[in-house]
Amino acid sequence: MLRPLRPWLALVRGGAGADALSDIEASVCLAEQLPDAECDFIGIPAGRRRCVSTNAPPREQVDMLRAAQESGFDAVALVDMLLLKKITASAGKSISRYVSSARTVEKFCAVLQLPFLPTTAQTIYRFAALITHEGTLKTMLSAWRKFHHLAGYHWPAEHSPVLADVRAGARKLMAPAPARPRIRKDRLRALLQHCVDRKAFFRGMSYMLAYAFLLRVPSELLEQLRPGILRIDEDQTVHYGPIRRKGQLLPQSTLEAKCVCKHDPLLCSHMWASWLLSGDLSADAAVFPARYYARFISGLRSDLEAIGVPSGEASCVASHAFRHGAALDIHDADGLAATCARGEWRSRAVTSYVPASKIESRALAEALCEASEDES
Ligand SMILES: [Zn+2]
Repeated sequence: MLRPLRPWLALVRGGAGADALSDIEASVCLAEQLPDAECDFIGIPAGRRRCVSTNAPPREQVDMLRAAQESGFDAVALVDMLLLKKITASAGKSISRYVSSARTVEKFCAVLQLPFLPTTAQTIYRFAALITHEGTLKTMLSAWRKFHHLAGYHWPAEHSPVLADVRAGARKLMAPAPARPRIRKDRLRALLQHCVDRKAFFRGMSYMLAYAFLLRVPSELLEQLRPGILRIDEDQTVHYGPIRRKGQLLPQSTLEAKCVCKHDPLLCSHMWASWLLSGDLSADAAVFPARYYARFISGLRSDLEAIGVPSGEASCVASHAFRHGAALDIHDADGLAATCARGEWRSRAVTSYVPASKIESRALAEALCEASEDES
């Protein structure tokens, strides 16, 4: 089966299929002259990097292409992907933004066994029916459309008035999603106390860190948390990182939480971090097993019910509840600029966390240094 987009996505993000493709990946990588750190990140072995150079004779490139073809890949698509990568490299930052969206769309197409590239208007409508969040849908459609243009395909929804309206934000395909409950400071305190009473320290620590560092769950917490990621200063400030925030190609964010033991020890990340660091886990051991997320959410919901949150509300709690709650607390205490800085928002996505009615548009414009619609 031919999966035309896979090699390129594997190149940029690592992942399944990388082994079979390492030659062609290395050639693409070198053609792009990616720095070594990035090669490490996407898992291209050092030896490969040296054995194929940008100046590899055309014949060697063709041989690699044939080898990839013999491994079952579509050679034309591979070359197209090389071309795409070269073109998108000039677009700079937009690569990582487009790639994560495109991966999701590609998975959707794979499930329905419909082509991602080129697609049909009907497939686009089907996809649109699936995505509830308007901003997410806009980003994904933009990415999908961009891939069509880069590959020289016509985007079949170009003149669709419905999707044009959706892209412009003027029309919603779905009823608005119900507001997700937030976990603000008081609720966090009750949760942590409950965890302490039950001696559920791992759970308590995951709640504390998600709130203190405004983390997206699971990507910025469960998938990153290992003892080595936490460092405690002499003044008890906790540093968490470097982690890869959503939209970053490499881990580049190290976050800080000040010690608040004096007036609120239960809510001090330093207490929870020292508890973890006092254990005998090795520095690179994953704190949570890979498939912990489902348990994290179901555990959180039952903890919420245990502290008296109505079950209807508890069952709606989703993965960003701590990030939402912390954002609102920071906003109320220190304003919008502080919220954007702590949550590392550089886009209007912050308005889905802090209700628009609380934000003055001028303050928003001042707080954001660049426009992007890709975060949440
Ligand atoms: Zn402390």
